[in-house]
This record gives sequence, C-alpha cells and structure tokens, in this order.
Amino acid sequence: MNRQSPGAAWLLTLGLVLTGCVQATASPNYTLAPQGAGRTCTTDPSISEELLREGQRLGVQVIAGPPELPGKDASYRAEHGRLGTIRLKQRPMSAEVRCQLISHEFIHVLQHLHGDLKGVPPLGWGPSRDQEAEAYAHQNQAGHVLQLLRTTPNTGRRPGTENPIRTLSGVPY
Ligand SMILES: [Zn+2]
Repeated sequence: MNRQSPGAAWLLTLGLVLTGCVQATASPNYTLAPQGAGRTCTTDPSISEELLREGQRLGVQVIAGPPELPGKDASYRAEHGRLGTIRLKQRPMSAEVRCQLISHEFIHVLQHLHGDLKGVPPLGWGPSRDQEAEAYAHQNQAGHVLQLLRTTPNTGRRPGTENPIRTLSGVPY
C-alpha cells in the first residue's frame, strides 16, 4: 500500500521543477579548456556565422567597421556590467581567417563573462596566463567557443540606447 500522501508527491514534483529552473540559468564552466577534438575554423569556417548568431542572442553588438585599435582587424570593447561591441574590419580575407578573427573576439567575450562583466580575466586555458595570448592560442577552436556561448543563459543584459554607455577604461580588448 502506498502510504505517501498526495501532498508529499506534489512537493516532490515542485522540487524537481525548481531544480530544473536553477540548472537552466547556471553559467557554463568557462575555465574548461578546449580538448582539441571539436570543430575548428580550419575544418569548418562556416562556424563563424553560428558564433555571430549566438552573440546576437546574448546581446553582443557586432559592427562591420574599423576596429578601435589601430592596425588590428577586429576589436572587442567590454562594457562595465554588460556585454560589449565587436568591430570587424571589412577587407578581403579567407573564410578561415575571418572565422578565426571572430572566434578570437568571442574568446574575449567569454573572458568578459568569466569576469562577471566587470573585467576580462584570462580563462586559464593555458599555456599563457595573458588574455591576449590566450585568445590567439585558441582562436581556431571555434567549436569549443560556440559550445560555451550556447550554454550561456541570456541574462537580458543587452546593449541599450536608453542608458549612456560606460566604458571600462584600461581593459585590454
Ligand atoms: Zn585580442
């Protein structure tokens, strides 16, 4: 005979629903380094379009125009407290190189997410502990970058025009 009351069963069900909600809003572990078996810009350069779609979902602005740093093909400006803006120079380049540029800037987006939108600390993917070298070293691992973006919940912290943009000075792009 089942001695469990209907009330107890209802509470259990509610507990499962609440657990599911908590899991759905948890951020991925950004410090998890690429394992080397995923899709890359070399094997699948079209992954750059998927990166851009995920960036749009999360609220990263992507602008076709001159990067903010002279001599660079792309830049990411991190905003304090919200995701920032990627600028991509328009020049002829192979699909693979374009993919690596975009993947590079999205590694900075992951660093920004890892820094809780208050800085852009290195993810610790190794071997370098510097955020710029880290982005260069792993920019071909676009599949891993995409996976981390896809499992990042949309927090609603989108760039907006209703508030003045506050830039984070001194942050390497
Ligand atoms: Zn960079």
